[in-house]
Amino acid sequence: MERQLIDYLTKHLPSSDDLLVGIGDDAAILDWRTRDDLVVTSDMITDQIDFILADADPKLIGRKALAVNLSDLAAMAAQPVGVIVSLLLPSTHSKFSSIDPYELALQLYQGILPLAQQYDVVIAGGDTNCWNGPLAINITAFGAMQGNIPWLRCNAQAGDHLLVTGTLGGSILKKHFEFTPRVNEALSLRQQFNISTAMDISDGLSLDLSRICRASKVGVELLVDQIPISVDAQQLSLQDKDQLSPLEHALQDGEDFELLLAASPTEATRIIESNNLSCPITHIGYFTKELGLYSIDTESQRSKLVPQGFVHQ
Ligand SMILES: [Mg+2]
Repeated sequence: MERQLIDYLTKHLPSSDDLLVGIGDDAAILDWRTRDDLVVTSDMITDQIDFILADADPKLIGRKALAVNLSDLAAMAAQPVGVIVSLLLPSTHSKFSSIDPYELALQLYQGILPLAQQYDVVIAGGDTNCWNGPLAINITAFGAMQGNIPWLRCNAQAGDHLLVTGTLGGSILKKHFEFTPRVNEALSLRQQFNISTAMDISDGLSLDLSRICRASKVGVELLVDQIPISVDAQQLSLQDKDQLSPLEHALQDGEDFELLLAASPTEATRIIESNNLSCPITHIGYFTKELGLYSIDTESQRSKLVPQGFVHQ
C-alpha cells in the first residue's frame, strides 16, 4: 500500500525548486539558503476528536489537516514553505472505516494537494501506516521568517488594541473544514504594520485570549458588542438543543482559525483605516495593566469574563 501511495505521489506532486530531495529517499532536503529563521509547527487531527470520518468527506479532512498547520504558521507571521505528511489509516476490516486504506489516503491527498498548491507549499515527505484504530493525520509544517521578528504571544502591551480577523463562532457547522488559513493576511499585515502579538483562535476566543494575557502578563477588556459574530453562530443558537447565545458561541467555540492581534493604538487605527485585507478586521478590545479578562457591554458595564473553550485532554 505504501509503495503504491509513493508511486502515486511521485507522479502527482508538483516539482519545486525548494525541494532538493523529495519523496523516495530516507529523508527530504529543502533548500534554505535564501531564507532566514526556520519556523516549525506540528498538528495532528484524529477521527472522533477533530472530525467524524463516517460523516465527513475525506478530502475535507485532508484539507483541514494542512489548513490547521498553515494557520499556526500564519499566527507567527511565517511564510509557509514545506510540509511532512504522516497518515495513520484504519485497516479495511477495522470498525473505524469501510474504505480501503489506499483509497482513503488518495482522497485525503485530494484535499491536501490543492491547498498546498494554493499556498505554494511543497510536500517533502512523510509516513503511512495502517492499524486497527481510528484515522489520524499528522502534519509538520516548515515556514520561513524573512528578516522579521516573529509574532510571539508574550509581547502584548498594556494599552494595545485587540483586533480580530473574520467572524467568530459556529465553526462546527462547516467552517472548521472550509476555513481560510490567514496566511496572506498575516504576511500582508507583517509587511505594513507593527504587530505586538498574534495567535490563531483554535480553542475559542476567550480561552485563547486568556493565553495571550498569561504569556504577556497583561489583562484585557473585551468590547463584547463589537465582536464580529458569524452567521453560523446565529444559526447554531437557533437550533432546538442549543443552549448558547450567538455571542456565547463567538466567545467560546473552537476552530475559528482567525487571527487575534495586538497593536499599539496608532498602528491599530492605521490597520482598521487601511482596510486592505481580504477579510474583515475588527477592533474588539484593549489590553490592560490590570490582570484578568473583563467584558464591557454597550452600557459600559464591566464584568468578569470566565475564559471558556475547547480544553484538550
Ligand atoms: Mg495556534
